[in-house]
Amino acid sequence: MKSQSIYSSLLLCILTFTHFLTITAERCVDIPDPLNPSKQVIVDCPPTVNSDAYVKRQTTNFFEVTHNCTATAALCNNIKEAFNDAGKEISKVLKLKTIIKVNSTFTDLNNAYLLGAAGPARRIPLTSDDNIIRRYPQALVKQFSLSTHPEYNDYDITARFNAAQNWWFRTDNGTIGSDQYDFYAVILHELIHGLGFISSWSNLLETLVDQDTTGLTPFPDFGGDNDSQFEGFLENIFDKYVKFTRNGVVSTSTDYTSQLNESVPIGTSFDTVEEFVTQVKSSSKWEIAESALTSATTKDSLTFTPAEGTSHKEVIYLESSINPYDPYSSISHVSLRYESTPDFLMNYFLHDGETLEDLIQKDTLFYPY
Ligand SMILES: [Zn+2]
Repeated sequence: MKSQSIYSSLLLCILTFTHFLTITAERCVDIPDPLNPSKQVIVDCPPTVNSDAYVKRQTTNFFEVTHNCTATAALCNNIKEAFNDAGKEISKVLKLKTIIKVNSTFTDLNNAYLLGAAGPARRIPLTSDDNIIRRYPQALVKQFSLSTHPEYNDYDITARFNAAQNWWFRTDNGTIGSDQYDFYAVILHELIHGLGFISSWSNLLETLVDQDTTGLTPFPDFGGDNDSQFEGFLENIFDKYVKFTRNGVVSTSTDYTSQLNESVPIGTSFDTVEEFVTQVKSSSKWEIAESALTSATTKDSLTFTPAEGTSHKEVIYLESSINPYDPYSSISHVSLRYESTPDFLMNYFLHDGETLEDLIQKDTLFYPY
């Protein structure tokens, strides 16, 4: 389907070019609530012999969903059907090898603007082919067929959907209302996040100490006694392909991260988060964090470059036009320049009153090629 052209290339290029992986540590990071990604739970994940069942290619739906739904039986059934359709659609365009397990909750998210949220349930540190440790979403690690892998979480993806929205389901066979959202389209969007379309860069540091945002960093990693020892900022594997543009100069996320890792000596112990944030911000390297924020809030200044050798050659622009920076919408979405193209799916918002098919159809009229 046209709307998935970017995403299938993007995920495939990550799948294809991360072959030389080694297990890095026996500690992984669980993120129980995709609405609160700053709450990270460090867990032991000792090497485990791979016991994933071989899944036949002709499997039509690689997604196995556990539903937590307290709505009416009819509504919960509509949700299951929509998940089934979305799972089949993604299974058609990605060469998945194992079943992806999703833990989905349909509940009032107490936010009138929110449709849903999803992310990897566990992020697993692995050493990439350039010898840099990055966090990989569990769903992606499962596709590498490693003979021994860090222990997995029971789920690959955690997803939440807002029961307070007015949802439209294709199984109702009715016309979508002007204030309704297509649940199927939102599932597709959220599953793509859960599979790995998610950056590590955020304003987490200043948020933790209740300060205004002046810079962005990848997630800091801590270990040692009481997890008090700074072990470096870690990118997600998604970030390996992200580039920041500032005053015409293009820098990779990896370069920015390595410079930020000079802000505080690796191995330094801190008693409090405040102490850590103060030291990072007082370093001259904080200007890297400031540059990252400028790029993330300046139109056309953030890009995703597919890995060399993949069929998708074009640079993909990421969302960098929202100012002030929005941790839920900036960076981990595609630019609104794709809003009127068939590649709108990972825009940070979805139009109400239009089904996924309506949007694809309308966009095709604009782009007849
Ligand atoms: Zn999103």
